[in-house]
Amino acid sequence: MQIALISVGDEILSGDTVNTNAAWLGKQLTERGVSVERVFVVPDHVADIARVVNESLAEYDAVIVTGGLGPTHDDLTMEGVAAAVGVPVEEHTEAVEWIETHSDYSHADLVSGTTHLPKGSRMLPNEVGVAPGAAIENIYVLPGVPEEMKAMFERIEDEFDGDPYFREVVPADEPESALIDRFEELRERFDVKVGSYPGDHVRVKIEGSDEEVVQNAADWLRQRVERP
Ligand code: ATP
Ligand code: MG
Repeated sequence: MQIALISVGDEILSGDTVNTNAAWLGKQLTERGVSVERVFVVPDHVADIARVVNESLAEYDAVIVTGGLGPTHDDLTMEGVAAAVGVPVEEHTEAVEWIETHSDYSHADLVSGTTHLPKGSRMLPNEVGVAPGAAIENIYVLPGVPEEMKAMFERIEDEFDGDPYFREVVPADEPESALIDRFEELRERFDVKVGSYPGDHVRVKIEGSDEEVVQNAADWLRQRVERP
């Protein structure tokens, strides 16, 4: 399964908010064997949201959008997603019912628009905050507030799966450039993905879908590098 993540918000583009949502989701999805192919950051603007959602849907199996829910003027994600799939945004009965029964708010207290979702979408309850999320045509719309986003993702995480995935990290106390030939041989000998991350020593990450192959590849490399 291949996925694109779309983070909505002017404040992410301006650097006022660090995109920890994409980092957290990237990690969760990768651990599940899902391949995160792109992370897009888009402004609070309906046409931009709609275009990136639309293009990503054509390219990937699913799209997760975070941020820009709720009723304020800069919360335009539901409009953008609705435009991407060609439906209107409308009051969602289940969203109203869920808020009435699970939160301290009554529907009358809520700012109009809070429970408006793309027509035909499945409501994703917000256990931590108020504004509900939505799922429609392999698009999942989650809140921007990290705690709300995480709780909502955990409700739906089983919908994201991929091949089982294994990883080993081999530390090497050598310059990265000196390791290039060994990386090449490693990839020729074993069906694995090799990444290297320099720091005070190089961490070589070996990944693949066969546990034994990953293990053997890591052992092979361990015997051929300087240990830190
Ligand atoms: P609300 O219903 O409170 O308006 P929301 O789902 O609309 O929430 P946003 O308005 O987009 O979310 O963002 C609310 C706050 O959540 C931001 O001010 C920021 O602190 C945090 N936030 C939003 N997007 C991200 C992100 N990608 N990574 C980390 N934090 C984020
Ligand atoms: Mg908001």
